[in-house]
Amino acid sequence: MKKTLSVVVSCYNEELALDRFYEETASILKKLNWKYELIFVNDGSQDQTLSVLTRLSESDDRVKVISFSRNFGHEAAMIAGLDYSQGDGIVCMDADLQHPPEYLTEIVKKLEEGYDVINMVRTRNESAGWFKNFASSAFYRLINVLSDVKFEPNASDFFAVSGKAAKVLKENYREKVRFLRGYVQNIGYPRTTIEYEARTRVAGESKYSIKKLIAFSVNTIMCFSNLPLKLGIYAGCGAGILGIVMMIYTIWSWARVGTPSGYATIIVLMCFMFAVLFLIVGIIGNYIAILFAELKDRPIYIVEETKNIH
Ligand code: UDP
Ligand code: MG
Repeated sequence: MKKTLSVVVSCYNEELALDRFYEETASILKKLNWKYELIFVNDGSQDQTLSVLTRLSESDDRVKVISFSRNFGHEAAMIAGLDYSQGDGIVCMDADLQHPPEYLTEIVKKLEEGYDVINMVRTRNESAGWFKNFASSAFYRLINVLSDVKFEPNASDFFAVSGKAAKVLKENYREKVRFLRGYVQNIGYPRTTIEYEARTRVAGESKYSIKKLIAFSVNTIMCFSNLPLKLGIYAGCGAGILGIVMMIYTIWSWARVGTPSGYATIIVLMCFMFAVLFLIVGIIGNYIAILFAELKDRPIYIVEETKNIH
């Protein structure tokens, strides 16, 4: 019996990109020796995304649509796609054709070879600009230092998992503050990478602002590492050493000049100490916020309607 490939596509205000995405992707999927389903997740778009998807689903019953009641974010959309997927292999990709569908052929080949996780690694991302590229590589370097989970540098939200790996992800990784890419690294199983060149977005604009990316990076680091929590210990040791040095210096200058060191020193020290203190309080605060989100146990997403899902 033929195997099935589930392609999960998260869409937020992608009305301009979807028709081209569907045409290109479907034409490649048809050539594969697998059956397929295209699962589009409408992440609370305010434009005509849902009506475009509805039209596509009416003409092709392999197009399935899950529509959220509001915008829950890319991560929630991907997990919803995984939840509804029924394939022997699942691929997550963006709707803007930055993840070139021609790689689906290679992905299927790797799945047939028995790999459970296929990381798609970007070799080039022209459209992102130097700052995003620099920030992205700095982020991966930092998280690999801080966390025991090893991240593939330049990994993207373009990846594939076997049905078995998808089941593990669906059942066990229901965290509220999410980073699917991290869980994919965390589950183990035979894995491989495929390099790809990211294309430029076909239409519309990026939905990830720098502010969103920073917040996302901070949360991700905290979800995959407890090291920042221990920063207080290091900061305390550092401040202690600094205090001893300052004490020696004060006694020395007092003995030599006869006056204790001045007001400026106190201000400098106070500013330094408070900065360290507030930083640590902030870090602890953010961990508490993550814990709070877990404790509240609110849904990761709410589905308002579906098409072609039985
Ligand atoms: N996306 C989403 N929900 C959001 C933001 C983005 O589903 O709240 C989708 C978006 O439609 C796209 C993918 O996530 O298919 C990646 O977003 P985008 O292309 O804007 O990010 P970039 O490629 O610029 O990092
Ligand atoms: Mg994009």
